[in-house]
Amino acid sequence: MGLFGGIESGGTKFVCMIGSNPDNIIAEQRIPTTNPEETIRQVIEFFNPYVKSKELTAVGIASFGPIDLNPASPTYGFITTTPKEGWKNVDLYGQIQRGLKIPVAFDTDVNAAAFGEQYWQKEKRLLDPFLYMTVGTGIGVGVIVNGSPLHGLIHAETGHIPIPHNWQRDPFPGICPYHGDCLEGLASGISLSRRWGQNPETLPDAHPAWDLEADYIALALVILIYAYSPQQIVLGGGVSQHAGLIQAARSKVQQFNKGYIQSSMIQEKIDNYIHLPALGNRSGALGAIAMAINLAEL
Ligand SMILES: [Zn+2]
Repeated sequence: MGLFGGIESGGTKFVCMIGSNPDNIIAEQRIPTTNPEETIRQVIEFFNPYVKSKELTAVGIASFGPIDLNPASPTYGFITTTPKEGWKNVDLYGQIQRGLKIPVAFDTDVNAAAFGEQYWQKEKRLLDPFLYMTVGTGIGVGVIVNGSPLHGLIHAETGHIPIPHNWQRDPFPGICPYHGDCLEGLASGISLSRRWGQNPETLPDAHPAWDLEADYIALALVILIYAYSPQQIVLGGGVSQHAGLIQAARSKVQQFNKGYIQSSMIQEKIDNYIHLPALGNRSGALGAIAMAINLAEL
């Protein structure tokens, strides 16, 4: 079957992997995100020996965004309006495709993570729609519908949905440069750092930050459940790993649902319904490998 490449491009690093499945990764490298020329050159250098030896069949890219996913667009595969210095209007897909000359799959980091968590499940169940939400430095949501990542006008940006904001309880205005107090503005890792004046990793379990955070995550999850009716939700990202947070978010989802959606998945089996990533922090890069396999099989 050969080998496949996965690239998870992020604001601080590009994670590159070569392998055939999560238990068979033969090479891996983290490349710091500097300027596009330097970073993309190093990515191509990492994969090129495997292209030359004809072992590498295809590569997938899980990219930070927003990105252009319309195959008919002249800027398909470009990073578009990112605030990341130097990366606006960069042809990430095209430069890697021209550099490696093998098929390249391209999607958002969160769609790739959703695809990977679905694709590499131990029990191959069809869970459709399938949803992945990451709460880390930023907040993003990937959605799999009919077996494929959901695209549309561009792609879903549910990390930026407006959510109820009680200004008396939480006078913090939020950090989103576009919306202020959208979901990412109120509940991302950066928002936590600015609101509380310390890195979220150093906030003790009993700090009121965590009850507020569980409220915001649960409100977002209820909106996502109502909007997409997912069969399963993966809650990824560094902030979600905080001890007790996912449990608190689950019980608040039950509370905020107010018995409206009558499903045993929410009322009784919510631990199976909303869970941490089976692939840990490798969902994006392993999702990119799954996208590359999927592309080669088309
Ligand atoms: Zn926003």
